[in-house]
This record gives sequence, C-alpha cells and structure tokens, in this order.
Amino acid sequence: MLTMSESVIDLHTHTTFSDGSVSPTELVNLAHKAGARAIAITDHDTIEGLAEGRQAAAEIGIEFIDGIEISAEFSPGTMHILGYGVDPRSTPLRSTLAELVDSRDERNPQIAERLKVLGVDINYEDVVELARGDVVGRPHFARLLVERGYAETIKDAFDRYLAKGAPAYVAKRRLAYHEAIALIHDAGGVAVLAHPYQLALDSLDEVERFVAQLASAGLDGIEAIYSRHSKDERAAYSEMALGLGLLITGGSDYHGSYKPDISIVRGTGDLSVPYSLLATLKERLPQAPAQT
Ligand code: AMP
Ligand code: ZN
Ligand code: FE
Ligand code: FE
Repeated sequence: MLTMSESVIDLHTHTTFSDGSVSPTELVNLAHKAGARAIAITDHDTIEGLAEGRQAAAEIGIEFIDGIEISAEFSPGTMHILGYGVDPRSTPLRSTLAELVDSRDERNPQIAERLKVLGVDINYEDVVELARGDVVGRPHFARLLVERGYAETIKDAFDRYLAKGAPAYVAKRRLAYHEAIALIHDAGGVAVLAHPYQLALDSLDEVERFVAQLASAGLDGIEAIYSRHSKDERAAYSEMALGLGLLITGGSDYHGSYKPDISIVRGTGDLSVPYSLLATLKERLPQAPAQT
C-alpha cells in the first residue's frame, strides 16, 4: 500500500472558467482517474470555478484546494503568483479580480484589432464565444488562429502573433508582486511563485536574488516541480526554496487542449508531485475561524 507521502497531487490546473478546455467537474474526474489524492484549480484571475470543483471533488472523494493564478508586473519574462487556500468570499480578492478581468476586456479587443491590421480576419465575438467562461485569454485567440488556418499549432500562434514581443501582443494591467502577495494573504491563502523559469532571468543566482526579494514581500513558496522544468531545474528550485525557508509546490499547468502536450497530474510524462508538499503547505495556512 502507498504511504500518505507517496500519493501524488496536482496543484496547478486551468478550467473553462479561464483558458482550460475542461470544466471543473471534468478536471476533478480526470485528476482522480490519474491517481491524484488532491487537486487545486488555479484559474487565471477568477475563483468562479472553485465551487463546482469542490463539489465534484467531494462527490468523488479527492481532496480539493481553492486556488488562483495572478499575473504580476515583470520583465524580461513573465511572473505568475499562485494563491492556495484563498477564501472565495474575500471581498478584496473578488473586487481586485473583477478589475483584472475588466482590464483583460479592454486589452482583448485591442489584440483583435492588431490581428486585423496584420491581415487576420477574425472577429472578437468569435473569440469570446469560443472562450465560454468569463476570462478570455490569449490561448483562446491562439485556438481560433489555428482553426482558421493562420497558425499550425497553439505554440505557432503565440510565436507568430501573441507572445510578448510578437506583433499582436498587447500588455494588460498587472499587479505589482507585493500587491498580488498581499491580496492572497488577505484572503487567507499562501502565495507561491509559479514556474520560475518563465521569469527568463539569466542565471539561477539571479533568480535566487529576486526570489529573496519576493520572500521579503511575504512570498511563501516556489513551484519547483513543474511540467516544463527539467529534472535539474526541479532540484535546483527545490534547494533554493529550502535555503530561503520557502515551501516547495508542484503542478502540471494542465490546460486541456490549449496545452496539448501537458497531461493532468503527469505533465509531459515525468511529473510526480508528492502529497507531502501539500501537507507542509497546509501547516502554513492560517486556521479557518471556528464555525459558530
Ligand atoms: P493571458 O493571461 O491572456 O495574457 O494569457 C496567458 C496564457 O497564455 C497562459 O496560459 C500562458 O501559459 C499562455 N502563454 C503565454 N505565452 C505563451 C507562449 N509563448 N506559448 C504558449 N502559451 C503561452
Ligand atoms: Zn492559462
Ligand atoms: Fe502561469
Ligand atoms: Fe497556469
């Protein structure tokens, strides 16, 4: 029999409420089938999928963690902060996320405009329809570009049109990292730096100096065990976390058909996030107030 620490989990997934292709119920069922003992949903800028996910998880008998993924201002690469154990009823969290979604809704038609100038004939309404949920993201544009023959794959659509530095890229409002961390803490959660390789810094030393700065702003952990991190990167970021007194977390960043090479729980095949990381994370969560 597996001991508790040998069970696997997935703490980074997206549903149709942001830019994943499966519903929270489907996602929880897939995670269960893949052998996960616990699953977190971490949609971009929205907590609207959590209630459905929690309900599905209770029905199937798998542990559920409320999550969120928030983009923060950063250059040269991108910085995403994950929040775990956030209270979906938190008013500051809800109102800030609503602002972030509003700013997406300002940016997205501008992406459509740029695509039009580049000779791409797609209507923004079609992107919204394809997205279904309340958060429209670049992967939805990418999907439509593929469907309409303007790109070979989602990755090709990003490379040619949508990625930072590509001709249809339009920046959206992002929180400063200390704001994202404080927002997650205010909502009772722990804040974790997602996929540090995406910071696109030159060396591990540079990442470490920057993460130390994030830790001073209250960062609680590093997502060391990530689909697109090599074995060496997973080890190096885990060591970095331990050295800085931070939690280690892990997840696939499953998006269904929007990231077709990434499977839930298993990543690109070699992912294995032990339950013990979640057990340690939960010790950092503030105790929920007693129900009266
Ligand atoms: P958005 O929040 O709308 O700006 O889009 C963010 C989403 O786009 C996330 O799911 C990212 O993983 C995805 N993404 C960003 N850059 C790329 C890229 N170069 N190739 C594929 N997906 C990307
Ligand atoms: Zn995404
Ligand atoms: Fe991310
Ligand atoms: Fe993600």
